[in-house]
Amino acid sequence: MAAKKKKKTKKTSKKPVSVVTGAAGFLGSHLADLLLKKGHRVIGIDNFVTGRVENIDHLAGNGDFRFIQQDVTEFLFLQGDVNHVWHFASPASPIDYAHLPIQTLKVGSLGTHKALGLAKEKGARFFLASTSEIYGDPLIHPQNEDYWGNVSTIGPRGCYDESKRFAEALAMAYHREHKVETRIVRIFNTYGPRMRLKDGRVVPAFVSQALEGKPITVFGDGSQTRSFCYCSDLIDGIYRLMMSDYDLPVNIGNPNEMTILEFAQEIIRATSSKSRIIRKPLPTDDPKQRKPDITRAKSILKWRPKVKLADGLERTIDYFKRRIES
Ligand code: UDP
Repeated sequence: MAAKKKKKTKKTSKKPVSVVTGAAGFLGSHLADLLLKKGHRVIGIDNFVTGRVENIDHLAGNGDFRFIQQDVTEFLFLQGDVNHVWHFASPASPIDYAHLPIQTLKVGSLGTHKALGLAKEKGARFFLASTSEIYGDPLIHPQNEDYWGNVSTIGPRGCYDESKRFAEALAMAYHREHKVETRIVRIFNTYGPRMRLKDGRVVPAFVSQALEGKPITVFGDGSQTRSFCYCSDLIDGIYRLMMSDYDLPVNIGNPNEMTILEFAQEIIRATSSKSRIIRKPLPTDDPKQRKPDITRAKSILKWRPKVKLADGLERTIDYFKRRIES
């Protein structure tokens, strides 16, 4: 019996289209996943300088995901509608941006310019992944969005901090002059699966050292503080901000502050490791304390972090175990 021919109807997809720069990175890839879950079509762009194909290979064959390998500091040409541009491309760990200072400055300045240009051309809403680093080594605590920061322009972190400060200024200029709808998030220390084992940041460094029974390298006396946010909480806050009508910067992070020494002890406990703690010199301009004031996110976005450190660490440790074994 002849198979019944299905009548082909041409689907006109009404799905919103999102462009994500840095889509193969830690946060960009989690964002791409969330957007696909929310029914967006996603065009991911990455040049794999710090992004990795492993972060997006589960999306191969997904008809709603398209990937373009490109440096976003070069002209971005895309055909068709774009509704949202999410600019996440950038080296983000102190080791990465120390190795790649010029690329870091370029992606924050020229890359932001190209991404804003794309948003303007398409009439899309633009989202900037900014950072708590714009506050530098902060003189107020906790940091709220009205604080202007304490940044050394010429220090080793200047390339990242200043490129993000420039990016914020450029986004506001496009907003004011070209009426582009812009959103700015200031991301505080975030962790979770898909961080690179060797990116040098404290979470992958301590977890991999603990799992491999190597000494845990605490920089300085370990009294400097950080506040760690699990990636799914962060991405949830970011999505809410993009969909809100708020165009000034919003801190997203977890205000659960601890010293780096306490954090090292927490990792040893969570991994049941026998590693000991050793001291290494404190890097230049390492901020002494960091904790987000999230009053704005709570009131405007109705957002607050939900994942407890112990639960987030468990998922992260599982991920790093699999990576070390493979
Ligand atoms: N840190 C550490 N040992 C390491 C890596 C980092 O003690 O092996 C410290 C670092 O000096 C900083 C904190 O951990 O005070 C967080 O560093 P990270 O590189 O994760 O990011 P930052 O918050 O400084 O941008």
